[in-house]
Amino acid sequence: MSNNPAAALARIDAGSLSDIFDDRPGRVQNPVMQCVQIKPIAPQPGGQERHRVIFNDTKNYIQTMLAVHQNHLVEEKILRRGVLVQLVGYSANKVKAKRILIVTEIKVLEEFGEHEKLGDPKPLELKVEDEKPFPTAITSNGFYGNKQEQPKQSRPMPTHAKPSSAATAHANIYPIEAISPYSNKWTIKARCTSKSDIKTWNNRNGEGKLFSVNLLDESGEIRATGFNDQCDQLYGLFQEGSVYYISSPCRVTFAKKQFSNLANDYELHFERDTMVEKAEEQDGVPQVRYSFTAIADLPSVAKDTTIDVIGVLKDIGETSQITSKTTSKPYDKRELTLVDNTGYSVRLTVWGKTAASFDVPPGSVVAFKGVKVSDFGGRSLSLLSSGSVAANPDMPEAHKLKGWYDEQGRSGNFATHANVQGTVTGAGGSRPDPFKTISQVKEEQLGMSDNPDYFSVKASIQYIKQDNFCYPSCLSEGCNKKVVEIDPGQWRCERCDKNHPKPEYRYIMSVNIGDHTGQLWVSCFDETGRTIIGMSADELMEIKEVDEKRLADILSEANCKIWNWRCRAKLDNFQEQQRVRYQVTSVGPLNYVAESQKLIDLIKQYNID
Ligand SMILES: [Zn+2]
Repeated sequence: MSNNPAAALARIDAGSLSDIFDDRPGRVQNPVMQCVQIKPIAPQPGGQERHRVIFNDTKNYIQTMLAVHQNHLVEEKILRRGVLVQLVGYSANKVKAKRILIVTEIKVLEEFGEHEKLGDPKPLELKVEDEKPFPTAITSNGFYGNKQEQPKQSRPMPTHAKPSSAATAHANIYPIEAISPYSNKWTIKARCTSKSDIKTWNNRNGEGKLFSVNLLDESGEIRATGFNDQCDQLYGLFQEGSVYYISSPCRVTFAKKQFSNLANDYELHFERDTMVEKAEEQDGVPQVRYSFTAIADLPSVAKDTTIDVIGVLKDIGETSQITSKTTSKPYDKRELTLVDNTGYSVRLTVWGKTAASFDVPPGSVVAFKGVKVSDFGGRSLSLLSSGSVAANPDMPEAHKLKGWYDEQGRSGNFATHANVQGTVTGAGGSRPDPFKTISQVKEEQLGMSDNPDYFSVKASIQYIKQDNFCYPSCLSEGCNKKVVEIDPGQWRCERCDKNHPKPEYRYIMSVNIGDHTGQLWVSCFDETGRTIIGMSADELMEIKEVDEKRLADILSEANCKIWNWRCRAKLDNFQEQQRVRYQVTSVGPLNYVAESQKLIDLIKQYNID
């Protein structure tokens, strides 16, 4: 073990902290720093002890949070004040203007010994672009109901509410944006912008219930959920549109973004002692915050994006009941038609209680927050359970639309986004084509009901059956019937009542495809076969006749390639047995850029550091 400070100093990657936060290309990937302080943080009730560690790169120092699974390094005194460490896993976060490094894995470099603070480190300087005025722009349109400019603040946490009678009891009002698992005692003052129905679950781990609210203040939004007892206690207290004080203790966790339409990285889980109190004065907290997309602009919005939309209600469909394929539970559904002054109309579906109780008259202006864009029918919209509806909201966009509609919109014609490029149209127009994994296709029993189901799946070819990969078909135009060789050079089509000197071979292949969840046999017709084999069935038959081995090679060369398959699942009667057949309607290559983006978005939802 060396106790040579010069060697330690030389090993430290000076300046790497600022490189990490500015994400400089060429930065050291696993930088070495010195640990200059370790402090335990009092655990949240029911939580584990955590450690705040200060690291020094000789130019800067920074406060970091050590992941709980690294606690043993502190307990075993391997991580000590003065030692050198290499950061193996870490993520850089900016919470408002504050920089926090979360350290998930470190390696202690014992061989360099322990030293007094090396170099002359300064706190990591904040750069000008970090000092954004409060609030930071999450939505481009600003927000409705609170237009006044906020003063520039370089140290915004915690801020204090304007003095008022109720606020004195809540001295330490935090902006929502400052809430993190590392904030201790806090109160937020926020408007409940949406409240879910109570949802119940029942699985092998037991049963329970929950509800969620979206909370909004000047700085941002956060989702909060109450489970079981907290669901009973708090569900009745929350009203959409009202303002509440909410105080810790309250659990702050990483947001499960797949269940939320909010941008916050965290969410709240109410605890037994969480204080929720309706505010006396309801002003000073913004109403719902919107960032509208015009209906004409929808084709440029990617499928599955969550947006806000405002329009005039042109038409309201009847309430219908459908059964969820995923949960087997019935729920209400209602289709609305919205128009705006861009001259386009769009269909928007509302669900559940919102559908059943929807009583806004046609001609009203309606603002929707949190709708999902789908490519069904070109472009259509679906209100998320975390979304909200406001009829005739008092806001400039609404007044403008109302004026336009009364003057000219009422008698206008509207274009739709049906059949824009990128959608596949079949006999009955475009179809819903949800993306499924193979296990979902089976679990959701697609194709088992009276009507066929359509889906797309991303899968690779595992195996192509070599026998009967094609059939001889009629040469007449538009007739693909199977022909029979009645004499050499005499291929007869019963349908056309005609003999042809030779047939045209067409693919009818059984292909086994697989993804990470399972395998599926699908049948491919001629067009799909040409795409995945790279030649016509006629050409392949010629090869077969001279060299069977070469045929096997060509079929196996097609294996392991990944395609996007669009399929139809349908119940089939075969020899008095019913079974589902999966027929490929089209196949296309992967768009790797789009697929990567989709995966990046998906991975982000899991908050893996
Ligand atoms: Zn024919």
